[in-house]
Amino acid sequence: MKMDFESLKEKFEKENVCLVAVSKTHHPKEIKKIYNKGQFHFGENKVQELMTKVDLLPNDIRWHMIGHLQSNKVKEIVPFVHLIHSLDRFSLAKEIQKQAKRYQRKISVLLQIKIAEEDSKHGIEPEKIEEFMNQFLERNYDQIKIKGVMGMATFTKDEEKIKEEFQLLDRIFHRLKENYFSDDDRFTIKSYGMSSDYEIALDHGSNMVRIGTLIFGERNY
Ligand SMILES: *Cc1c(COP(=O)(O)O)cnc(C)c1O
Repeated sequence: MKMDFESLKEKFEKENVCLVAVSKTHHPKEIKKIYNKGQFHFGENKVQELMTKVDLLPNDIRWHMIGHLQSNKVKEIVPFVHLIHSLDRFSLAKEIQKQAKRYQRKISVLLQIKIAEEDSKHGIEPEKIEEFMNQFLERNYDQIKIKGVMGMATFTKDEEKIKEEFQLLDRIFHRLKENYFSDDDRFTIKSYGMSSDYEIALDHGSNMVRIGTLIFGERNY
């Protein structure tokens, strides 16, 4: 299912969509090849794997943490991470705030929203977002910049279902924007769409896609 990287890159640039190359399980040599083609945004889903790669690869790579994040791992990535896509609970925000303060960095995050039916997918339940936001604002977490939302659709061939889930996430983004971020011009990111569903995502408002397989080929675990 691999595609020519240059044409993929060009396609997203034309549509003003940020392409995050998801490099999990792939060797630093493979990552370097894509980097040499002008790709700077890479995504990983495991802290341990990310840490070994960071040391081996150029330091102008912008690393995105896209996977479920344990609180005790936050301190490892805070010194360099570009964007955390997976803020899904208040206790994690608390730890990010604490470590960000310690390292004197502002940390950009996305709220991961649970739009899929599957239990395996993490994220804040749509009906619990307000509760999360109110708690977050009450604490004045000034080291954390919430820049948008992230979600994963159900793994299915039913395109109608995927479309509905992305539409829901788009609506949630606009509701958050209106209710909490109307005067914050940094709240702009809608991170959804992967190799199998990025076209549907682009049709429904995504402006950041996370693509692995189409760039690097199938993963061998
Ligand atoms: C692995 C992964 C992707 C990329 O998946 P592909 O199907 O290989 O494009 C995107 N987002 C998250 C959160 C992932 O874990």
